[in-house]
Amino acid sequence: KVRTRFAPSPTGFMHVGNLRTGLYAYLTAKSQGGQFVLRIEDTDQERLVEGAVDVIYRTLDRVGLKHDEGPNIGGPYEPYVQSQRLETYRPYAEQLVREGKAYYCFCTKERLEQLHEQGFGGYDRHCRELPREEVQRLLEAGTPYVIRQKVPLTGSTTFKDAVFGEITIENKEIEDQVLIKADGYPTYNFANVIDDHLMSITHVVRGCEYLTSTPKYQMLYEALGWEQPTYIHLPLIMGRNEDGTTSKLAKRHGSTSFEGLVQDGYLPEVITNYIALLGWAPKDNQEIFSLEELVKSFSIDRISKSPAVFDYDKLNWFNGEYIKAMSSEDFRAQAMPFYKEVFGDEEKPWEVLDSILRARLTKFNEIPGLLGFFKELPDYPVDFFVNKKSKTNLENSPKMLEAAIEALEQLSAWELETIHEGMINLAQKLEVKNGTLLWPVRIAAAGTLVTPGGAMEILTLLGKEEALRRLRAGLS
Ligand code: GLU
Repeated sequence: KVRTRFAPSPTGFMHVGNLRTGLYAYLTAKSQGGQFVLRIEDTDQERLVEGAVDVIYRTLDRVGLKHDEGPNIGGPYEPYVQSQRLETYRPYAEQLVREGKAYYCFCTKERLEQLHEQGFGGYDRHCRELPREEVQRLLEAGTPYVIRQKVPLTGSTTFKDAVFGEITIENKEIEDQVLIKADGYPTYNFANVIDDHLMSITHVVRGCEYLTSTPKYQMLYEALGWEQPTYIHLPLIMGRNEDGTTSKLAKRHGSTSFEGLVQDGYLPEVITNYIALLGWAPKDNQEIFSLEELVKSFSIDRISKSPAVFDYDKLNWFNGEYIKAMSSEDFRAQAMPFYKEVFGDEEKPWEVLDSILRARLTKFNEIPGLLGFFKELPDYPVDFFVNKKSKTNLENSPKMLEAAIEALEQLSAWELETIHEGMINLAQKLEVKNGTLLWPVRIAAAGTLVTPGGAMEILTLLGKEEALRRLRAGLS
């Protein structure tokens, strides 16, 4: 049975790289009918942030990555928080000591610092072969120690990554890694391996920044005599710089956390859809995927090892596509807070707003900007009335406005249809192109060259009184 885990460290926000790791771990499990486990890796007590675990729950919840086991829902391998499992790790380290695969190291901080200053890369294995009696004596005297793994001095370690292929490293290049620290806490690498094994994790999905540590994990599995999981390392996520080059995604490229992107106006399901494609490609050219569709289409062998570029323009495009496809109820619900910024509690015909906004919105928070002219008519220069294509100029525009005002005043109802009919009839009567009439009307009504929607939609939304007031002002 496939079991994957998402093992975030609670940092207080969800970086898109982390969320992608969680998503791919979820998809790896669910595409194979497996289970998805949430484990909180909080052994680095210095980095703890208040409320950070809630951010993790909340994010998973919002994007719909439902875990089958985890701290807030329990499961057969409880507890799922590393700081609550501290007594789990030590016995395994002690077992390795007994088997001669690990040792107590009494080197002081000062000694290690000296080594470092002398340019010694890593630990010199000073305590590796201490005589048994001496170890006993030091332990009895209460000397502080760490437990280190006795890494083989010869040979090599090979592991196969499902994405990056076979990777081999010479054992002599690997330091005798610390398993248990002087404060009794396990090191991150050690706890991670123990937990993955004890929680029966079959596939370890994580960012490729862990690729170089994986031989160390591998050696631990070998020392403990455990079967290693399948490794799935995910490609780097890059951002595009102004000069066209790419570098590791960072703040200067744009928001890099889930919360930040939501705040910027991206829909949670868009973020999920987009990051699903950062390193994985479907068989065909499909781009829009719901989570269920991702589960159906996902396969490990289509994960790429080349760095993926986080493209904010593309994300905008996705968001726009999702907006276009929304039901009118959803559209209205999402648009409402921004609508209120423009119109307050005034009710406007929603179908009209929907029809002018939907096609041009990439994010809902653009609404106040796009509709700003409704709130306040901008100062506009008179030559806005001049338009070649509509055949309008400073002579005929006032005439058009005058005729329009007269016709509009007589309308029995202020609705899009009646306004439409009234204007088309008027253009016919005046024997001009519709554009010749509607261009000056739209300019006077909106005070801007480019508007969402045409003259008649704008008139409808303005309401009779305000619309006529603006058209009259356009005459002066
Ligand atoms: N706790 C690690 C992190 O937040 C996860 C490492 C792993 O998945 O093995 O980056």
